[in-house]
Order: sequence, then C-alpha cells, then structure tokens
Amino acid sequence: MKFNAIVVGAGPAGSSTAYHLAKSGLKVLLLEKETMPRFKLCAGCLSARAVKFLPEGYQHLFLNKIRSGRLGFRGVEEVRVKTEGEVAYIVDRSTFDHFLAQKAQEAGAEFLNGEFLGFDKEGAGYRVFTSRGSFLTEFVVGADGVRSRVSKLLGFRKKYYRSVEFFTHGRMEDEVLIEIGLVRRGYLWVFPHGEGISVGVASAGKEDLISILKDHCKHKGISYKHPKGWHIPLSENRNSLHLGRDRVLLVGDSAGMADPLLGEGIYYSLWAGKLLSEAILKNPSEPLQVYEKLLKPLRDDILYAGKIGRLAYSFQRVSYKMGHGRALKEFYSVLTGHKSYKEVYRLGWFDFLKHLTKEGFFRIFKV
Ligand SMILES: Cc1cc2nc3c(=O)[nH]c(=O)nc-3n(C[C@H](O)[C@H](O)[C@H](O)COP(=O)(O)OP(=O)(O)OC[C@H]3O[C@@H](n4cnc5c(N)ncnc54)[C@H](O)[C@@H]3O)c2cc1C
Repeated sequence: MKFNAIVVGAGPAGSSTAYHLAKSGLKVLLLEKETMPRFKLCAGCLSARAVKFLPEGYQHLFLNKIRSGRLGFRGVEEVRVKTEGEVAYIVDRSTFDHFLAQKAQEAGAEFLNGEFLGFDKEGAGYRVFTSRGSFLTEFVVGADGVRSRVSKLLGFRKKYYRSVEFFTHGRMEDEVLIEIGLVRRGYLWVFPHGEGISVGVASAGKEDLISILKDHCKHKGISYKHPKGWHIPLSENRNSLHLGRDRVLLVGDSAGMADPLLGEGIYYSLWAGKLLSEAILKNPSEPLQVYEKLLKPLRDDILYAGKIGRLAYSFQRVSYKMGHGRALKEFYSVLTGHKSYKEVYRLGWFDFLKHLTKEGFFRIFKV
C-alpha cells in the first residue's frame, strides 16, 4: 500500500500535520502506538493564541478558562495579576488528543494503531516498518514526541527539561499559579484541571524534583500523590530545532519545538503541523527548504523565549519583582498572540535593568 505521507505519532503535532495534509487531498497514514484515547503527562495549558489552529468544534474541550495568574516566589511571597480576558485554556490531553486524531481521520487520514519500528529508503520514497506490517510512502513525518525514534534514527540528540507531575483534588477554577525560586532553571506549577488541580515541577537543573514537590505540597496543604515523570525538549539556540533530512521531516517535540521559558509545546505543535503540511504541498521535492523558511517566526519565538528564560531563571528574585509591574501583563499579551516573545524581550530590557541590583548587574555578563 502506498501513501503520500506516513505520520508517526498522534499527539497534537502528528494529528495537526495529518489533518492539513489529508484535507489537501493527500493519502495519509497516521500511526500511533497507543490505543486512543491515551494518557499523556501534561498540565494541558493551551495559550489563547493556539485556538486559531484548532479544527472546528473544539469548545467543549476547555475544562477551565484562565483569567488570572499568580506568580509565587519560593512558596512564601505571591503576586496576583488579573487578565483582561481569557489568556489560556486547560484541556485534558487524552480527550484533546483524541479529538485532534478524529478530526484528522474525518479529513481523510487513515489511522493505524501500531508502533513505528524504522524505515529504509526504497525507490524515490521510503519503506516504513511498523508492528502492523510495512508500508511505502513518499514522506515520513516524525511526530513521535520528545523521545522520538524517527529523530534518533536521523542521528539527532536533544536537551531536556526533566519534569514530574500529579493530579489531585483542589479548586482553582480560572487562575494558574507559577512558583519560581524553587529550582535553578524552571518552575513549579499549580494549575486547575477541571474539578481538580495538576501540580508539577520542571527543571533543566539536577535537583531532586520529587522532594521539592513533596515539600511544597506539605507547606501549602496540597494533597500529595506520587508523581509521574517525563521530559520536555529544551531548545536553547537556533540550532536546537531539528527539522529532518530529505523527505523525513520532524515536527512538535520530536523536533524540539517547546518554548524554553514555560515548556509550552502544544501551541508550537499545532502551528508547525500546519506549516509542515504547507511545505510538503508547496515543494514536494525539497520540502525541508520551504519548512525552514516558513518556520522562521516559530523559531524566533522559541529563540526569544529562551533568551527571556535564561535571564528570568538566572535572576529569579528580579523576575519576581518584575511580576508586580508590567511584566506579567506583557506576558499575557504573548499568550493571546498580541505580542511575540521577541517584542517582549526588547521592551522588557529597560524594566529588567531597573530592577537589577549592583551585584546582579555584574553577574549579567556571565549569563
Ligand atoms: C509534565 C509536563 C507538563 C506539560 N505541560 C504543558 C502545558 O501545560 N502546555 C503545553 O503547551 N505543553 C505542555 N507540555 C509539553 C507538551 O506535552 C508537549 O510539547 C506536546 O505534547 C508535544 O506534542 P507532540 O505531538 O509533539 O508529542 P506527544 O504529545 O508526545 O505525542 C507523540 C505521540 O507519538 C506516539 N509515539 C511515540 N513513539 C511512537 C512510535 N514508535 N510509534 C508510533 N507512535 C509513537 C506517542 O504515543 C504519542 O501519542 C508538558 C509536558 C510535560 C512532560
């Protein structure tokens, strides 16, 4: 059986790519090793700017609508900043991903519950080996997540945030809490999750995340449950995104597309899936070149989120102080799509310098 494209992984990146390709009339196979709906460790926070990439009929997926944010420092100080409207939504990843995979199928993609094992070049295309047999295709799309086998077969390696998270009872409704000052590079979160909450911590450092989470829950009276752990890609510079080779293309976490400030990856997965399908349709013989070009704004966003992240996590006390002023509002404007990380980075410099102490001013040259 010959396909135009085989998309490996039915997370947001794979389903978005499959949806757009199938909608344009290509013969697409969406391959997923888990039975859908499947569990995915994730806080499920979807920034408002992501909504434009969702297929019709998504409204029922929003468990909570975020209208307020709290920024905490070391679990002892806190500032709350209300938003002007909804800046983000909380989704349950099993239902959300299932919905996207179904939309890809409605658009014409064929779904196969099987595991990707590898591929070989064959003729002008590829033979893809799966636990359910082998298939011929013109394009292979690796959307198989942060531990992507497709990306490994191409020889790419990536850096990670380590993260742990659990779901428990608690009431938060329409606000999120981000605690800084607890890990060297990253943050702890308490987000609403429908009627309950999700609590987690992510860090690029080597701390004992489980102890930090446990201590924080004890201190705040949160009912602790043993967390699960997973990785979030950490893309720090222009070369950290791996887009593929020839007609084997990567998208979402498998390409390293999560923002290094917050670890937000769903938005970039949905966006990049659309861009990748455009690249394949525009230039089927050399899609990688077009993909590179189309991705420029996405790449810039991740790059500048990384620049902000490096400063914000190196000077966490300063970041907290800035949270009282304009900074959180600026940040909300990124989540709603009114500003890019690049604009916020440029605008934020003066504010940042104003808040730096003399000692911090000299430390900045080391960041
Ligand atoms: C603890 C935690 C909290 C997070 N919170 C947020 C958040 O609040 N907001 C946000 O935007 N992002 C968050 N993220 C990041 C987000 O989860 C990812 O960026 C996002 O899921 C990436 O989507 P994807 O489609 O690239 O990969 P995934 O969602 O990981 O999907 C990959 C799919 O590929 C399948 N697969 C893997 N290998 C194979 C194979 N060999 N054969 C067939 N199928 C395969 C997997 O089963 C999976 O279904 C969080 C991540 C973690 C770990």
